[in-house]
Amino acid sequence: MQKRLQGRVALVTGASSGIGEATAMALAEAGARVAIAARRRERLDALAARLAGLGAEPLVLQADLQSTTEAQRVVRETEAHYGRLDVLVNNAGVMYLEPVEDADLGRWERMLQLNLMSLIAATQAALPGMRGRRDGHVVNISSTAGRIANPNAAAYAATKFGVGAFSEALRREVCQHNIRVSVIEPGVVETELRDHIGHASTRQAINAWADSMRQLQAEDVAEAIVFCVTRPAHVNVNELLMRPTDQER
Ligand code: NDP
Repeated sequence: MQKRLQGRVALVTGASSGIGEATAMALAEAGARVAIAARRRERLDALAARLAGLGAEPLVLQADLQSTTEAQRVVRETEAHYGRLDVLVNNAGVMYLEPVEDADLGRWERMLQLNLMSLIAATQAALPGMRGRRDGHVVNISSTAGRIANPNAAAYAATKFGVGAFSEALRREVCQHNIRVSVIEPGVVETELRDHIGHASTRQAINAWADSMRQLQAEDVAEAIVFCVTRPAHVNVNELLMRPTDQER
């Protein structure tokens, strides 16, 4: 039986761990060929071996996506390698939580650059090809923090509200070209994301909160992404908000 994404080419950014890694695997299981981008080469190589086992003909793209130039390069290299890019999953992201008064602005600037500017740059790079083929799907990973701005998450929420706003304006610009745009808004997912919070007391507080619930697993989010990109061409799931059952806010 033909798999649902047979013949499709996907690029997943931030594929070396967590949601991106699970998404690359889920897309491959659905039949897509998959390019994977992130900084940690050894993690990408290990994932590539698993993807190859599924017949996904992986392309490993080591890149620091804080740079918009690098974000554009990974898109261009995917297109050059496979001759097309059908599904762009803009997933790479960091979450630096801290109170505004104490915030390390350099850290926040790097987060804004990665979570928002590079997502915009990768999307922009993918549009001409998608438009030319009248076919494409951009999946942007936002968060519940793209809907609710909590204390200590001012800049992270700004990036994720930004992802939501960018995605909706983009959708309205490109829908006539048969290009779909979906925003995924997960609540707490058990990944490495929280390990990188530099503000110790904030990290401890959010870890305690996360430990108080049955967290989403990366595979849960990957399944939601596969759901979005396997709908018939006339269906665009614009937004998908999902929380652990136990997560109240
Ligand atoms: P992980 O920390 O497990 O994954 C983050 C990914 O982004 C890694 O592959 C990492 O790769 C990559 N990344 C980070 N910095 C860079 C960089 N400078 N250049 C290239 N790649 C980079 O966390 P998650 O899987 O949880 O996060 C994925 C997305 O999901 C993020 O956008 C996050 O905001 C969002 N999200 C997560 C939630 C959660 O609770 N976990 C909830 C809602 C949304 P590497 O370090 O190798 O570069």
